[in-house]
Amino acid sequence: MALQPLGTIGIVGGGQLGRMLAMAASRLGFRTAILDPQENAPAFQQALHRIVAPYDDIVGLQKLAELSDVITYEFENVPVTAFRELGTTLPVYPGLRALEISQDRLIEKNFFNELGIATAPYFDINDVSSLKNALSSTSGEGIVKIRRLGYDGKGQIRLAPEDQTSLKSAGELVQSVPCILEGMVGFEREVSVIAARGTDGQTVCFEPAENVHREGILRTSTVPANITSKTAAKATDIAEQVLAALDYVGVTGIEFFVMDNGELIVNEFAPRVHNSGHWSEAACAVSQFEQHIRAVSGLRLAHPGRHSDCIMENLIGDDMDKVPGFLGDSNVLIHLYGKSETRPGRKMGHITRLSPKQA
Ligand code: AMP
Repeated sequence: MALQPLGTIGIVGGGQLGRMLAMAASRLGFRTAILDPQENAPAFQQALHRIVAPYDDIVGLQKLAELSDVITYEFENVPVTAFRELGTTLPVYPGLRALEISQDRLIEKNFFNELGIATAPYFDINDVSSLKNALSSTSGEGIVKIRRLGYDGKGQIRLAPEDQTSLKSAGELVQSVPCILEGMVGFEREVSVIAARGTDGQTVCFEPAENVHREGILRTSTVPANITSKTAAKATDIAEQVLAALDYVGVTGIEFFVMDNGELIVNEFAPRVHNSGHWSEAACAVSQFEQHIRAVSGLRLAHPGRHSDCIMENLIGDDMDKVPGFLGDSNVLIHLYGKSETRPGRKMGHITRLSPKQA
């Protein structure tokens, strides 16, 4: 049954994604309760109920459950065990299976391959000897990634045949935590699909966005992506296949490498709204945030059509200095996250530059 007007959506995590979810929930006439360990979490500025507690704090999570009709989360590194407990009393969306799979790069890659979806070559790495063995089949090249808790390029070391310094660091890393080695993919470009699935199985996808990363962090998303309609259709087919396999409810972001022949390799998926879908807020009638709120509250999903071409640019650290310039440009929509302190590498906001739709 759909959530009633003034119903409360509990959100675990109070960063910018939780904040934008809370704003979308308000627009649809819902209330939000947010749990975050930081007293000044950006999403608290938008929430009716604020619970300051660690993500795995049973008392805090129970309080969230008491206030809420349904629970969702804004990032994937929340403890599954605590959620399993919550799931016995009220719906937790997207489901725990998506969370478990996305939390571990090895399990995630196995999941894609079992569905017949191509990934980079990968190897389970537990010590220096398994690393050396794996490197012998990738010509000494690749990226060591920690299996759990990596984000924005953190917990990754790139290896090249002659680079002994990186190899030494990677050796230390693999001794300390479970890792995988991924072979390097010589992609032409990167795209992502933001897809949503409702409680009734209805699935809709936003158009693929073309993404540029620097130092592992997303910098820009451009729509339309410079890919053929055949490649775009393949990407949305894969997204739909993944959502169905997970019996998913909510929005996900799936990242792809596009090869020069148009073939796709999946990089990863996130069981939540995604930075590469922020453009939807400015260039579509209904954003990824509203789509997620619609899904988890049992409403029908909206048409994901786009009215403008656009480029979304993250404002990271000192990029905030550019805001006064953007204020004078009527083609630019500014979205700031209400963070009090600017730090290098910290996502402070984003802008979306709109232009008339060409195709
Ligand atoms: P990830 O944290 O796995 O999403 O990686 C961050 C970024 O690093 C990706 O968006 C790519 O630009 C790059 N990257 C990750 N894995 C690979 C790979 N196997 N081959 C080439 N580039 C990669």
